[in-house]
Amino acid sequence: MTQLQATKIDELKGSFKGEILLPSDDAYESARKIWNATIDKHPALIVRCSSTSDVVRAVNFARDNGLVLAVRGGGHNIAGSAMCDDGLVIDLSKMKAAKVDPGARRVTIEGGATLADLDAATQAHGLATPLGINSTTGVAGLTLGGGFGWLSRKYGMTVDNLESAEVVTAAGEVVRASAKEHPDLFWALRGGGGNFGVVTRFEFRLHPLGPGVLSGLIVYPIAEAKSVLRQYREFLAKAPEELSVWTVLRQAPPLPFLSEEVHGKPIIALALLYAGDPKQGEPLIEPLRRFGTPLGEHVGVQPYVNWQQAFDPLLTPGARNYWKSHNFSTLKDGLFDVVIEYINKLPSPQCEIFFGAIGGATTRPAPDSAAYAHRDAQFVMNVHGRWEDPADDERCIRWARDYFNASAPFASGGAYVNFLTADEGDRVRTAYGPNYDRLVQVKRKYDPNNLFRTNQNINPA
Ligand SMILES: Cc1cc2nc3c(=O)[nH]c(=O)nc-3n(C[C@H](O)[C@H](O)[C@H](O)COP(=O)(O)OP(=O)(O)OC[C@H]3O[C@@H](n4cnc5c(N)ncnc54)[C@H](O)[C@@H]3O)c2cc1C
Repeated sequence: MTQLQATKIDELKGSFKGEILLPSDDAYESARKIWNATIDKHPALIVRCSSTSDVVRAVNFARDNGLVLAVRGGGHNIAGSAMCDDGLVIDLSKMKAAKVDPGARRVTIEGGATLADLDAATQAHGLATPLGINSTTGVAGLTLGGGFGWLSRKYGMTVDNLESAEVVTAAGEVVRASAKEHPDLFWALRGGGGNFGVVTRFEFRLHPLGPGVLSGLIVYPIAEAKSVLRQYREFLAKAPEELSVWTVLRQAPPLPFLSEEVHGKPIIALALLYAGDPKQGEPLIEPLRRFGTPLGEHVGVQPYVNWQQAFDPLLTPGARNYWKSHNFSTLKDGLFDVVIEYINKLPSPQCEIFFGAIGGATTRPAPDSAAYAHRDAQFVMNVHGRWEDPADDERCIRWARDYFNASAPFASGGAYVNFLTADEGDRVRTAYGPNYDRLVQVKRKYDPNNLFRTNQNINPA
């Protein structure tokens, strides 16, 4: 980086309403930390914006001073793209305001909100939009890459529920993107990541839900995993779209409904949510209890916001993480053998492999209707390497890569951009799929000099 002159920073401070953090400031150390502790970057300055005008000032400042620019939403991206070395980080964590219009079933929310912020605002009115499964994740990064969770089989990807976005472009202009205004930009934002500008406000469609939802976990021993997985595949193929069931394979955490001797043993868990009247869901989930001999279950009606936070304790920030992922259009028996083999040699107690069931409403839009292209994906698998000690880096990363390679023959070939690690530059085209060339066209129009490049980049050149 060219040495930033103090006078330049003073110039920015003069007009900036938020907080500007330099390496000499006390708050800088915690501000540069993100969810994945393997990321250790040192920006020259972190600017905590308080409004869209602050974002405009920061974008102009970075561009005019030739600085590398990163944008932090919720700071959860596994590749660490919320941070950069030497450059400027636009930190949106102070911009979380939400406004719900219950009559129109719409919410607008600022670009630094977490899923917890959005769910809290919408559930106050018995409404929701599909989001991910960990409440501390940022709405912005999740949405811009596609976004899926418990409600996706019924209501689609998060981007399928996006109505409009307020965007600060590389030129420092504030534009509104929707089906009618800047439709090319609106198309690109729905899956093209943070390549096109800083989204300062999202507007989503909402659906009636809860607040009480039938949800929970049913846990089986790993010895029954193959049979459970086979029955799961058949069950889900016929299940209504209101019912979402994911499988998680890992060592059993010390959950109170599991006996102590099960803790730390490999298990397969069925995690479920019924997005409808719990009374109608009860009989539908009954077969899930007869896939084998459950070690325990914790299923019942609970507030949707609680279920949205159920996995937070296993996904706290600050651990070391490495992911690999595949999409699947079907789950084959051979894949089950491979996954069980690798669960029986977990390199750390926190590593896990999950199959997130999407399908349903996510498959109905045409692949070119939005930048998110993978409408054939019925399942997204994530291999989650997670550990505490840097001395375990090599072992845990190797395990994730080996399993990824061993499971590749069964995958559909697509990739979810939000699950790509920093070393997967070779999969970026796969992640954007057949929409890549059109994304390049939009990138050339809105960010020809690639100011927004600290991401899974679409290179305008
Ligand atoms: C524990 C955990 C659970 C997850 N579960 C799910 C899940 O269930 N479903 C799912 O779909 N995904 C899930 N994800 C993946 C998640 O969608 C991505 O990690 C996503 O990038 C996180 O968004 P963020 O805003 O927190 O990240 P950040 O790291 O802040 O940002 C991610 C990217 O988006 C850009 N960006 C951020 N904010 C903006 C903005 N306002 N405008 C423009 N660009 C911006 C950044 O520059 C960066 O390139 C999960 C991730 C974690 C860590």
